[in-house]
Amino acid sequence: LNRPPIVTIVACLMPEMGIGYNGKLPWRLKQEMAYFRQVTSATFADGRRNAVVMGRKTWESIPPKFRPLPDRVNVVVSRQFGEGLAPAQSSACGSPADAASDASAPASPALWYSNSLTHCLDLLPKRVPDLERIYVIGGAEIYAQSNSLCDYMLVTEIEPETAAERPPMDAFLNAQAISSLFEHDRGLSRFLPPAVKLPTDPYISENGYRYNFALYRRR
Ligand code: NDP
Repeated sequence: LNRPPIVTIVACLMPEMGIGYNGKLPWRLKQEMAYFRQVTSATFADGRRNAVVMGRKTWESIPPKFRPLPDRVNVVVSRQFGEGLAPAQSSACGSPADAASDASAPASPALWYSNSLTHCLDLLPKRVPDLERIYVIGGAEIYAQSNSLCDYMLVTEIEPETAAERPPMDAFLNAQAISSLFEHDRGLSRFLPPAVKLPTDPYISENGYRYNFALYRRR
């Protein structure tokens, strides 16, 4: 690849691959959120950053005080935005102190808008130098389109601890498309930068759920 890899990252309830309810996540899993933050923020190379690409509704589901997601180049897609890929107003990434300490590293904007998922995936590496990976972070409508565009999928596979308790869900991945396009890859720990600490036990129990982190690669 002579472009940054495109990686979908998603948490879903197996086997139907449910991902949302009423515009929110169906569960509250702190360690899963910490994994998401570490994976999408960490890089192999110093001075590089990852991008997180999301649909307008997922952006709106992030509390304003937590967005844009720090240490990552955020891209929001909406059909209401202008053509191509444009920086949002006054969202420079990096403080003046950072700029002073390293004049050779110009701060690029932390928040971008695009009216097209395919265009923004094409344009991002050209507009933002030194991107290491592009993470597609949801939601359902974006994931449905990213199946055919991404190289890898990081899937948190969740099951209720007691079979009786499945949460209500109204947003799903296309499990059939995913199983035909992707295959399991056992190299998760090598795929993630060393800064990401994986649990020693592959299964995590939290809040009535049991889950594990998996990597899939395009067949
Ligand atoms: P999305 O976040 O996918 O946003 C949909 C919006 O994105 C559309 O309404 C449109 O915005 C814009 N959009 C979609 N495709 C394109 C395109 N090709 N070009 C330009 N704009 C586009 O919303 P969903 O409702 O589908 O998903 C939200 C659900 O997903 C929630 O329940 C959320 O909690 C869940 N989720 C779950 C995750 C998980 O890992 N379990 C992760 C992320 C979200 P506009 O209408 O402005 O034109």
